[in-house]
Amino acid sequence: MRGNHASFSEDCRFDKISRSRHDLPEFLDKYRNGLKPMPATLRPLSAESAGSNRQLVYACMAGYYPFLALLCLAGVYAAFFLLHIGFRLSGPFGLPFAVLGLSFLLMVLDILAALPALFGRWSGRDPLEIELPRQWMSGVHALVEKVARQRQVDAPDDVRLHADSVAHVYQDERGRRILVIGGAAVAAFSQDVLAGIIAHELGHFAGGDTQLGRVGMRWHAVMARLEGRIRMRPWSQFNPLALLVRGYHLVFGLVWAANKRAQEYAADRHDAAMVGAEMAAAGLILFTVSEIMPWVRLSSIAEAYVAARQPIADIFAEQARRARTASPSEWQDACRKALKRKTEPFDTHPCLKERLQALGVSPRQALAMAVPAAEPPARQLFSNWELVEKLLTEKIIAIYRQVYWHKMEVAQIFAGRANP
Ligand SMILES: [Zn+2]
Repeated sequence: MRGNHASFSEDCRFDKISRSRHDLPEFLDKYRNGLKPMPATLRPLSAESAGSNRQLVYACMAGYYPFLALLCLAGVYAAFFLLHIGFRLSGPFGLPFAVLGLSFLLMVLDILAALPALFGRWSGRDPLEIELPRQWMSGVHALVEKVARQRQVDAPDDVRLHADSVAHVYQDERGRRILVIGGAAVAAFSQDVLAGIIAHELGHFAGGDTQLGRVGMRWHAVMARLEGRIRMRPWSQFNPLALLVRGYHLVFGLVWAANKRAQEYAADRHDAAMVGAEMAAAGLILFTVSEIMPWVRLSSIAEAYVAARQPIADIFAEQARRARTASPSEWQDACRKALKRKTEPFDTHPCLKERLQALGVSPRQALAMAVPAAEPPARQLFSNWELVEKLLTEKIIAIYRQVYWHKMEVAQIFAGRANP
């Protein structure tokens, strides 16, 4: 769903869908009234985030080609050594050596054939991203500039909207820093919470995360192609050369994810420094909890409308309507589930519990925090939000229509009813 951009954008904690305070069941209001200011437990911000594995990430990238070169040389040596034995022994005794030698040679050739992937151009155009006239978003631009000034970080070169993501940042092919704000975030959050989200995202720029992300994703793409080639061939699973290459990819993936998690903590601190730990935690909890409830997910809503062939112009408003129907126990269950989730080794974002701890918010306070103030709504930053929501809805529905028809085609094929 997220397409290419997902692989080279700095995905952030706000990548998921959320909703506004007035979309929540009324029972939560009482928690909000009882909120106390959070203690100041934030660590100072520095260019290098605590626990950062940036040097290791660079080392993995710099070492990849030397590793492949050494591996290829070793493979070629092993291949000729085995072929040499094979030909010397000849007959049935020599055949296994010759076959093994040949397989080493093929594997080396396979790796060499994948190397041009590095020079392939990246088409990073995200079909769900939308560029609007600047005058439509003058309020958003003003808010972004205010946040940048206050956080003493550079403002982005461009601000765009997104139909699915809640917010993310990336550097395009010309090196321009792009901040992307999701329609769901605009529809769901107050201007204050949105300011925190923007601070988090600008924190990624300030930390050099998008720069590393851009370089890193090229390497991810190269490794993914090689990995794909290896996986396509069943015999490669037993090829020691291929296993070593896959081991390298695995290590890079682990180091990359660990570094990304450190980046998220650093960006969260920008958010908290901008709007306070309370509001930062509130936004974080709100979107995580709503993701646990499948019927309010944007994707579920889009799928339902496409399947029923019903028109829709305001998908975010529909999301709000669905959220209102959730019962208090459903909200509490979802919150409990969200807090139970643990960080996995390949997760690029820490789990909710750990991020709240870093902000100085205990799990017990979590439910209360899930209700940020809704006023003034971020929608007011647009001169014509209804039209913008319609444009974004069209994008989402168009994508899901394709997904839906593809699914239908597959179903027909399996049911033996496909057209000849
Ligand atoms: Zn982030």
